Amino acid sequence: MIRKALPLLFLALAVGGVRAIRRQQVRPTPPPPLLAAATLADAATHPEPPGTAPLLEALRADLQVHRQLIVLFADEANLKGPGLEQALAVGHRLHHERRDLVHQLNGALTRLAAQPPAQRDPVVGALLDWMEADPELLELDRLAFRDSLRVLQKPLRGDTTPGGVLLNRRLARDLAEVDRVEALVETEYQRVFGGPGHPARGGQRESWNAYVAELQRHLSLDTLLKGAAIPSPAAGLVGSGEINGTELPEKVLILSFDDGPHRVYTEEIKAILEKEHVPALFFEVGRNLGSQDASGQIKLGPLAAYTEDLVRSGFVVGNHSYTHAQLSRESGTPLDLEIRETDQLLRAIPGAHSQLFRFPYGARTPLQLQALEAYHLRSVLWNIDSLDWADPVPSSVADRVLKAIAHEQRGILLFHDIHDRAGKVLPLLIPKLRAMGYTFAGLDGEGRLRVEDRP
Ligand SMILES: [Zn+2]
Repeated sequence: MIRKALPLLFLALAVGGVRAIRRQQVRPTPPPPLLAAATLADAATHPEPPGTAPLLEALRADLQVHRQLIVLFADEANLKGPGLEQALAVGHRLHHERRDLVHQLNGALTRLAAQPPAQRDPVVGALLDWMEADPELLELDRLAFRDSLRVLQKPLRGDTTPGGVLLNRRLARDLAEVDRVEALVETEYQRVFGGPGHPARGGQRESWNAYVAELQRHLSLDTLLKGAAIPSPAAGLVGSGEINGTELPEKVLILSFDDGPHRVYTEEIKAILEKEHVPALFFEVGRNLGSQDASGQIKLGPLAAYTEDLVRSGFVVGNHSYTHAQLSRESGTPLDLEIRETDQLLRAIPGAHSQLFRFPYGARTPLQLQALEAYHLRSVLWNIDSLDWADPVPSSVADRVLKAIAHEQRGILLFHDIHDRAGKVLPLLIPKLRAMGYTFAGLDGEGRLRVEDRP
């Protein structure tokens, strides 16, 4: 618990993210000060350029969760009923911890990229050294680095200083390496299970299986399953006025994207949806949009522009809480703040406010549903979960979605616009589902069905 909390505080202290973690001080327990002091002292003895250690620590922690999720769902095909639910609940907790970490990490990488070359270049160089050549890394671990590389690459692109040119070259090469590894696991997956336009040819997923086996030597599934979990209340608990996708007409699908906006992926996904003329819902986490100061003044941050852009393009945006908390455990003022702050932030973005609310993890009880009423919000759930946050193999994500659709015949699909997976999967899924006779629909800001598929 303490070890997991460490990189977060460490990162925040080291890169000046104190303002960004102000919110977290309300709920999650901060690590004891003694520990933070020890960590900072430890950082001073590190050989890397100043400022590198906390970022490396965060990247390592991110990789560790990536590995844990892979072990957790490695045997997904054989997990049934309670076993799958347990894995999902543990996965939600891991994902929850990773989300805070990545939120801090992305902010820190962006601030790093904005520093003068003399400070920036050695630190970015040291991070890339680690990703490229650390002897403890496995080849397929590279799949965990794409998002951080993309977040670094975006602000550096076009930098013409000598150091910037070199870094851009390295980032492009490292991302090409991620692509190569991804293509390797994709090809294996498609050979074994079949892919678009070709049947399964059987065999083994050699690289993937070897990777999973190596991870399993150090990470036991049993130990993971014994850890803390965030269960989603049963889908059967659908409160009055809730929408979860099962009530849609047959062969009608709604795409939804949670947890953004994201500085790289939101606009990429928007571009795919626009190209395909598919409507969609985006459920935004308030702290990505901005904050409220002590006097109650709403202050939008730089990422709010992506939300404004979505709305301008006709997409419907909803509230996904302020910090992505497990709201089924909240009540009173903390619960109210989670709903209200994002409500107010969305009202500050022209056209972005709607009556749609999505509970993080779907975790809610009648108490939280009642809390929505004060804001005239309506809970929108999903019945088809891509698990795109837990699965780095695009074809595998697409297959999971297709299987769930074959079972449900209609519904609301859950994806995330905070990593590259949805952008990889949608171009495979959209044409295929249309060919199967499915229509993509949307909801308006009050939760009414809008069928406006324009293939
Ligand atoms: Zn979420």
